[in-house]
Amino acid sequence: MDRIVRAASGQYVDGGWREPARSKRLSVRDPSSGSEVGSVVAATPSDVQAAVQAAARAFPGWAALSPDERGEPLRRAHALVLERADHLARALTLEGGKPLEEAKGEVLWGAEFLLWYAEEARRPWGEILASSGPGQRLYVRRRPRGVIACITPWNFPSSLVARKVAPAVAGGNTVVLKPAEQTPLSAVLLFEIFHEAGFPPGVVNLVCGDPEPIGAVLTSSPDVRQISFTGSVEVGKLLLRRCADSVKKVTLELGGHAPFVVFADADLELAADKLAFSKFQNAGQTCIAANRVLVERGVSGEVGRLLAERAAEVRVGDGLEPGVTVGPLIDGAALGRVREHVADAVSRGGRLLCGGSEPPGLDPERFFGPTVLTGVPPDARVATEETFGPVAPLIAFSSEEEAVELANASEYGLAAYLFTRDLGRAHRVGEALDYGMVAVNDGALGWVQAPFGGIKGSGDGREGGRQGLEEYLDVQYLSVNFD
Ligand code: NAP
Repeated sequence: MDRIVRAASGQYVDGGWREPARSKRLSVRDPSSGSEVGSVVAATPSDVQAAVQAAARAFPGWAALSPDERGEPLRRAHALVLERADHLARALTLEGGKPLEEAKGEVLWGAEFLLWYAEEARRPWGEILASSGPGQRLYVRRRPRGVIACITPWNFPSSLVARKVAPAVAGGNTVVLKPAEQTPLSAVLLFEIFHEAGFPPGVVNLVCGDPEPIGAVLTSSPDVRQISFTGSVEVGKLLLRRCADSVKKVTLELGGHAPFVVFADADLELAADKLAFSKFQNAGQTCIAANRVLVERGVSGEVGRLLAERAAEVRVGDGLEPGVTVGPLIDGAALGRVREHVADAVSRGGRLLCGGSEPPGLDPERFFGPTVLTGVPPDARVATEETFGPVAPLIAFSSEEEAVELANASEYGLAAYLFTRDLGRAHRVGEALDYGMVAVNDGALGWVQAPFGGIKGSGDGREGGRQGLEEYLDVQYLSVNFD
């Protein structure tokens, strides 16, 4: 079977694909096997500057179009993504490892943002305030900000590109995007679609390669008005510091450490289904994956058993193989961290209910089996650091107060889950959780119409919903005196 992704160069600037003479190429590898599946051109600082300048030149003309006109290429891009969803999904599996069906789900989810923001940008943006005197009107309007630099991670390499680019350009801004080095091909294929969809030159630009020099240009350029970043806390903080001198707006979608709280009165089968989805999707490599399973003491044995049953149904392997539901981890470093977290939990008294290593016959450098641990102390590494793997540690609690205290004892504040049949408790606990998003009796949160994002160490900013558009708009207030 052909395991190559055929894609353009990786450098899309001012409406065209570029491959400068003497440019270096970066290899993209399949995490299932390590074999090369494609390559992209590595941008130099002057390539990045050219992309920023193209975006700055395109901005006034693009911002002057009506939202309806700006929506046209987004609507065409949406249709093209649907047409090519199978091809895009295959590329995503080859570079990111995600099982094919899951990859297709991601591609289609990303497409939703293209269409949704084409429409959302047409809705009213302003307010008229009460006047302070006769003959006066106070208006609040929103206006596009300018050039937005978007930086995306490897774990959702298609949808997160769409989730940033769509609201930014729908709002009248222009974009320079840098995807993750491990998974640039999904972004390249989306930009091929953006080209066909007819965005004017310079409105959307793509540069791939070494993050340090690219980041240095993007954070220091006075033409870039905003950095929209999704990735680790460490890099998010670095970018925030680097943007201080030029006072850029910085949107940070960072890591998480989601508590998954199950009360004894919950529908335990439902909780186990949603937990298995949250924990094993993308091999646990999602920012909103349940990282700590807090279970009321009387039912923790039952929840562990139900989750282990579901873990036994998972098939780990190469994401292109039919029937595989969990793919490889992204690289050896990710695998090393997962193994360390499991070993640490066991050394502190945690007990393995299942998993704990690679499934038989699979490469231990690439794969890890779904793992359920019980009796894990709240200070174990798996209970405090982002694991980013298919490992579910169960921690018992005895009261509602203790559940909230344990759930909130984290530097992160992205997503939390809560399972109960008690309506009062659902509201009380849901509102007491210090998280940007709380799902009650559910395991999914990334709806296109809802504001996705975190508080505390998980960042600042929202993607999705009306708020996702507002992230890319400045507020301007006009006081008009007509006396
Ligand atoms: P990462 O290492 O922070 O990388 C994210 C992006 O930043 C990549 O494109 C990376 O480029 C780039 N980057 C790294 N150093 C940079 C620098 N000095 N200047 C400019 N850009 C730089 O994160 P990751 O490992 O790819 O992603 C996993 C993390 O993302 C997890 O913590 C996860 O929770 C978080 N995440 C959050 C959300 C959310 O919505 N809150 C969604 C998904 C993932 P290279 O790839 O070239 O290094």
